[in-house]
This record gives sequence, structure tokens and C-alpha cells, in this order.
Amino acid sequence: MLDSQRPGGGPARDALASLLPTLRAFAIPMRTRFRGITVREGALLRGPAGWGEFAPFAEYGPRESSRWLASAIESATVGWPAPVRDRVGVNVTVPAVGPEQAHAIVAGSGCRTAKVKVAERGQAEADDIARVEAVRDAIGPAGRIRVDANGGWDVDTAARMLRRLNAFGLEYAEQPCATLDELAALRALVEVPLAADESIRKASDPMKVRAAGAADIVVLKVAPLGGVRPALQIAEACGLPVVVSSAVDSSVGLAAGVALAAALPELDYDCGLATMSLLTADVTSDPLTAVDGALPVRPAVVDPERLAAVETDPGPWRERILAAAEFLA
Ligand SMILES: [Mg+2]
Repeated sequence: MLDSQRPGGGPARDALASLLPTLRAFAIPMRTRFRGITVREGALLRGPAGWGEFAPFAEYGPRESSRWLASAIESATVGWPAPVRDRVGVNVTVPAVGPEQAHAIVAGSGCRTAKVKVAERGQAEADDIARVEAVRDAIGPAGRIRVDANGGWDVDTAARMLRRLNAFGLEYAEQPCATLDELAALRALVEVPLAADESIRKASDPMKVRAAGAADIVVLKVAPLGGVRPALQIAEACGLPVVVSSAVDSSVGLAAGVALAAALPELDYDCGLATMSLLTADVTSDPLTAVDGALPVRPAVVDPERLAAVETDPGPWRERILAAAEFLA
């Protein structure tokens, strides 16, 4: 049982005691396999400020999940800092598909920025080149193209591929290599700016990325960093331009990402928050989907019928929340 009276139980733990009775859980099938999963599962908590999403991936233990829990508690209890903009530009995401399909995805998106998956295991370098070429054709000369290798290249391959792909004009390359040392070495070899994504999973990571000279841009996700306020502090302390991304959340989780993007003093890049298209359903009747390449800045309200259609047993989630709560600050 959660014992909010025990020594070390902070305000977040106290708040959780009143949120737990509102717990609901969801399982939403995905349109395509992503991160090795085909169903996105998570939990929702409702408090005085609205809904919060707790959806750490299955392999995350209690300590790591406690930051996701802190983020859900922030959403449900105190909400978010005031926005400085009322819409957030977003990129369309192009999976590791063939050039015709890539062209169609971008042409139908309404987005001025495309993020293109590259370095997919089992594919040839020519596949990446054909995909990026097709995306440039679809998005036009003024559109922006970023590639995401998810750490799949070594330094030499990354240098060679980024030079070739930059013939089509790259805005930046996301996590071309896996480690900070590799990113720093690559950065000295190529003109294409580099963004760190997988390198940032904890609050201290953005500062390490900067100190290592490993990237020009950081990709920040709200839930793994413990909420919108902690993420804002991290962005300020890090001092690098930020791209806000989702963890393939429902619209409730996406709204927290939108709130971070809306509250950042500077936002020079389109964000990776147009991920509702990866899911086959949502927990709201008014999903946070992109219109003309942007998301509106607003919370998501859970619709009882939509939630019921994807609802699952909250028992396992209650256990995960109680375990994570032991590590709340
Ligand atoms: Mg990425």
C-alpha cells in the first residue's frame, strides 16, 4: 500500500494518494510496429487540473518510471506554465518505407518539415538515399528534412551517409551514432547539425551532451524528464536549441509535450509531436492531430466512450505506480 505518511513521502506522493482512485488503463493498437511494440499501453490519472498520463515502456523499472509518474501528477494536479505561443509546428514522420510511400506520406501531411527514418536494420544505404530523395521531391525546396538513425551508424558510415544525404538538404541528423564519443567525433567531420535523442533519458543527460560537444540540438520528452517544469529547467540549463518529442503517447500525454513546446522561450524547430497518426484510437474524441503542420496548444479531455473502447485492467498499472512512487522526489 502507498503510505504517504512515511518519512521521505513528499508532496507528489501525497497528491498521488488522492489520484489513485481515478486510475484507468488503456491498450491502443498501433498502425505499425514501433520500438518493437504493436500496442501502446498506459494509464491515466485524473486530478483537479485535468488528466495525466503514466505510460513508461514495459522494460522501465520503478526508478526510471518515477519520473513518468511525476509528470502525470504534474498534469493532473497543477497543470502547466503559461504558454508563449498558441500553436506548435510539427514534423511528419516517414518510417523506413519505400520512396513512393514516403512521397505519399509527406505530400498528404500538410507539414513543412519531415523526419525520415534512416539506418533501418536490414536495409541498404541506397534505400535511405532513395527515401530522402523522394521526401525532398514531395516537400519542395523550402521544406525541411531531418533524418533519424536511432544510433544505427558507426562514425565512418554516418559521415559518409550524411554527406550523401545532405545533397538533398538536411536540417539536422538525429542520433546518427549511439554514444556521446561517437557523436562528438562525427560532429567534427560533417557540416550537418546533430541532435541528441536516445542520449537523453535523464535530467543530467542534456548537460553531458553539451559538455561532450556531442550535439547542436537536444530532443526532450516530457515524461522521462519528470514533467513540463523540470523539462523547462533542463532546457534552460542546457542552453542548446530544443525539439520536443513524444513517447508515442495518447492525446493526454501529447498535451504535456505541447505544453512544454508552448512554454519554451525559444522554439526554432518543428517538434516531433504529430504521433497520434501512429495509433489506431485515442482516449479523447478531439485528438491532438496536426492541422496545416501544427498542433493547437490545449489540454486533452478524456471521452468516456473512447476510453471504454480501449480500456484494460488497471491492476498491473496500479502496481507499477506504487512501485514508482517509492522513488518520487
Ligand atoms: Mg529520435
